[in-house]
Amino acid sequence: MMWFLSIAFLLGLSIGSFINAWSFRYGTGRSIVSASSCLACNRKLQWFELVPLLSFIALRGKCRACKSRISFQYPIVELITGVVFVLIFYTNGISELSLLFFSLIFWSTIIAISVYDIRTKIIPNGAAYALAGFGFFSPLLYGNAADIFQWTHLISGPLLALPLASFWFFSRGRWMGLGDAKLELGLGWFLGLSLGLSGMLIAFWLGALVGVCLIVLSRAARRFNFSMKSELPFGPFLALGAFIVWVFEFNITYFLF
Ligand SMILES: [Zn+2]
Repeated sequence: MMWFLSIAFLLGLSIGSFINAWSFRYGTGRSIVSASSCLACNRKLQWFELVPLLSFIALRGKCRACKSRISFQYPIVELITGVVFVLIFYTNGISELSLLFFSLIFWSTIIAISVYDIRTKIIPNGAAYALAGFGFFSPLLYGNAADIFQWTHLISGPLLALPLASFWFFSRGRWMGLGDAKLELGLGWFLGLSLGLSGMLIAFWLGALVGVCLIVLSRAARRFNFSMKSELPFGPFLALGAFIVWVFEFNITYFLF
């Protein structure tokens, strides 16, 4: 057990490192496979500066040449992806490799979307549509191809995306972006109606909790002439809520109805 969870963690660290590179390059015209360089001085990085987590610690978060700060995004995303991979390996086991492989791709895509959403407040269309496709065809992986045409499966994505899309429509994009609805489409198809609804409720609670904390903190911070952005991206909360209900099979609707 331990050895395969360790492998999961190391694999997650590497994928997290890849997600970081993608999130800084997507939409900039830079290729994802080109060599990594310091974002401040453009110096090409050597292999020992690219080891996930360890390089950041060894370099104390600074570029070796120009000493400019390296974003905390790097170790944080690597660590989160590592932990997520451990939980995925733990819940899925390794008996069904195709299912495990699919879950890893699915949740990695969601982490990438969340990271990009936090950085830019934009959910990239391509990634959201890919996720919707994964979600729609996910019954295939469980060997239940016919389930794709069950009406409960067909409506789960659109029905869960609908409230978010109406928030977007009625607030004219101020409360929520249309990207959040597109993200929920894939999550809804993947999780199904009741788990999907549970995940969304958790997302709203977590979002409200973090929002209130930020307001309190920013009031305190303003006293010290320190401003903080108050606009919260909602995609990462949807992602976290979905992951919690998926890993722990936490179905709130049992308590509600
Ligand atoms: Zn540098």
